[in-house]
Amino acid sequence: ASLRALDRSVPRPHRVQDRRLPIGDAVQTEFANVPDTDPALPGNVAWSRDILARVQDSTAGVATAEAAVVRTADALDAVLGSAEAAGRGWGSLTGAERGAVLRRAAVELERRRAELLEVMASEAGKTLDQGDPEVSEAIDFANYYASLAEELDEVDGAVRRPVPLTVVTPPWNFPVAIPAGSTLAGLAAGSAVVLKPASQAVRCGAVLAEALWAAGVPRDVLRLVRVGESALGRALVSDPRVGRLILTGAYETAELFRSFRTDLPLLAETSGKNAIVVTPSADIDLAVRDVVYSAFGHAGQKCSAASLVILVGSVARSRRFRDQLVDAVTSLKVGLPSDPTSQMGPLIGPADGKLLRALTTLGPGESWVIRPRQLDDEGRLWTPGVKVGVADGSEYHLTEYFGPVLGIMTAATLEEAIAQQNRVAYGLTAGLHTRDAGDLATWLDRVEAGNLYVNRGTTGAIVRRQPFGGWKRSAVGAGTKAGGPNYLVGLTDWAPASASA
Ligand code: GLU
Repeated sequence: ASLRALDRSVPRPHRVQDRRLPIGDAVQTEFANVPDTDPALPGNVAWSRDILARVQDSTAGVATAEAAVVRTADALDAVLGSAEAAGRGWGSLTGAERGAVLRRAAVELERRRAELLEVMASEAGKTLDQGDPEVSEAIDFANYYASLAEELDEVDGAVRRPVPLTVVTPPWNFPVAIPAGSTLAGLAAGSAVVLKPASQAVRCGAVLAEALWAAGVPRDVLRLVRVGESALGRALVSDPRVGRLILTGAYETAELFRSFRTDLPLLAETSGKNAIVVTPSADIDLAVRDVVYSAFGHAGQKCSAASLVILVGSVARSRRFRDQLVDAVTSLKVGLPSDPTSQMGPLIGPADGKLLRALTTLGPGESWVIRPRQLDDEGRLWTPGVKVGVADGSEYHLTEYFGPVLGIMTAATLEEAIAQQNRVAYGLTAGLHTRDAGDLATWLDRVEAGNLYVNRGTTGAIVRRQPFGGWKRSAVGAGTKAGGPNYLVGLTDWAPASASA
């Protein structure tokens, strides 16, 4: 019981929604996380089947995504100019007025839950069980940032001034929750937002934008733009009118953006190489379950994914953890999201570069416990891989791969395991499985990561309860944690002295 009390990462309460029941248009005023869908409830079986039947020929978001293409520098300049002007009007509303629009956005997103699941499966390969919590998270962001906007009119006795224009460049791996979170934060803070969805997930961004426009966000206050990673992309990032840029992506992308404009006001959540430590007192059944979900959920394509498990002392010496892990991982069914029996979906594109190397080669001293197999011609469907013998300081230990491969390391002591966890250049998430209060205290004190999870997996941070963001090379710029109480403040400027007098 005492460990639970210390656990800052208790999972989402077991509240699940039966989608047969009317979800309702009631606007939420007190913040509470919305429930995910329980796929086992009888009505939801049919609800999910209907979504999956549409995945193959889904046209959700297509027209809006088409209309968002920006082809010339002049057109981009016009978008930025009109958004900046509109942002001044939007920013002159009170936080409460903007919050009211965001609360309606939450309702519009809930209304589109099925369509969002359809487009995520169709365009980004997300299985429904991975997509559903993303929709819940997007709705949570809307309601939570609405309540923060209401408080933003006065923070610590000082007036904050909105910046007119915020640009949002999200990744493809959470193609709804991340663009939603960044966009809603910018809007809540009083900026117009230019959203450039990831090229692999433009229709997801389009359905999101449609929901926000339907909620009453003016069209010129939220612009959806598609520009390639070209001269136009560079112009978007380096335009001096951009008052904030919220990036979620690779550390190298943040560095590249900064090279375009050295004074770029950047808030970037970047890469991770995350490990779960399993100590001798751990509940092995629970640890295996959490490691499997953290490593292979969405085929490991999460910054928060566990790419390493570090077995300590007797757990490393006994076969129990390893045998159970092998059983669990070999039973995972890999397939397309349109197949309701798929538990692990495809990669966003054919495995290449360092990921292909991680799936097909071994470093010195490593061996496969489960060797990954390519199931399709294209190279997007891979069975999960597990390797042992990952050495401290090896390439596998230190590199982010973003795919379905897990490495097992061992450590004689918890201290050694923590040193291995901290050896990486990143510090996004870290996991510990233990039932020993002393081990827990030691770990909490020493581990270098933004999101620490105890007796829980490392993915799926929940808005307000687990504000998300890292240390070291997992963050670039002046950002605070997304989904946390201080996030909006960083998206605004100090007002001049006269305004706060
Ligand atoms: N917020 C997500 C999570 O907690 C991870 C986001 C990412 O992969 O960028 O799993």
